[in-house]
Amino acid sequence: MKIFEKWVRPGIAELKPYRSARDEFGGSAAVLLDANENSLGDGLGRGLNRYPDPRQRELKKALAKIKGIPPEQIFLGNGSDEAIDLLLRIFAEPGKERVILTPPTYGMYEVCAAVNGLECLKIQLDSRFQPRVKEILAAADQRTKLLFLCSPNNPTGNCMERERVRDLLNGFNGIVVLDEAYIDFSPEKSWLPELGRHPNLVILQTLSKAWGLAGLRVGMAFAAPEIIFFLNKIKFPYNLNSISQKLALQALRKNTAEKAVKQLILNRQTLIEKLRGLKLVEEVFPSDANFLLVRFRNVTAVFAHLLKRGIIVRDRSGQPGCAGCLRVTVGSAPENELLIQVLKEMEEK
Ligand SMILES: *Cc1c(COP(=O)(O)O)cnc(C)c1O
Repeated sequence: MKIFEKWVRPGIAELKPYRSARDEFGGSAAVLLDANENSLGDGLGRGLNRYPDPRQRELKKALAKIKGIPPEQIFLGNGSDEAIDLLLRIFAEPGKERVILTPPTYGMYEVCAAVNGLECLKIQLDSRFQPRVKEILAAADQRTKLLFLCSPNNPTGNCMERERVRDLLNGFNGIVVLDEAYIDFSPEKSWLPELGRHPNLVILQTLSKAWGLAGLRVGMAFAAPEIIFFLNKIKFPYNLNSISQKLALQALRKNTAEKAVKQLILNRQTLIEKLRGLKLVEEVFPSDANFLLVRFRNVTAVFAHLLKRGIIVRDRSGQPGCAGCLRVTVGSAPENELLIQVLKEMEEK
């Protein structure tokens, strides 16, 4: 516990968390008159008059089995965005401390840091979209508490080389948040089995992508029990609603991700080949995720044309290293075909 206590904000280390009425109680009681719920029911017959399990025990048990990580090393949040926000609040003092980001990358790290009054030190990925280890370690000082890495990276689609991640984990004197939102689409292995070797590592995953449950808002953080302890300590007691807990559990039990991931990887390959055959397309970057970063010859016109035809993609051309680039999610086969057809139309004009 010691190593973390020196990193945790003093106010958080001392904080006594809110305890819900049922926190202490593990069994199943016949009469629940402790939480001022509506004893007559929810009017829908779904048991929603009861507060959800604040510790999400069943869901964590199922995840523990799938991921090979014990429940005390799992935090569940209202999307992984919740974990990002809570980690910043645990480890960095507003107005005083700072975090390192490696653009081009996921936008929420910067938004959450700003909301928490933290300065962002940006050290751009190199020309192959890999982290510059020496520069990052040289820039990190006493005030630099967290480093965010995303692998596979959004929006570039590539994985961070293991050697580099390892050097950062060993060399960075603070928390390394490794966002693996897209890891199920990648041939690279997750860093989950390495958790025991790196007490400063927090791995983020989500049910929003491979599991197809973006609407449920279920994100996961995996870390040393000491870090999970603080995440649980400062989260809102009922951060994951009962419907999300229940449906997530159903999806995990049915192993719904496997088939979808296989299909999307096939669709990704087809889409890459078709895009590479277009004159409008300058470059399709390799992808370990369920999206492609694509460089176009006339990105503004392409974006506008797609929009006009009802196809929305993400313009990433303003991001460092991404001039002329759109980020395109791999769709269903008919969606991908329509995209190619609309792009071909534009070439013929
Ligand atoms: C989509 C995405 C997430 C998922 O966020 P949720 O809040 O769990 O939906 C996390 N990180 C990255 C990099 C993403 O692209």
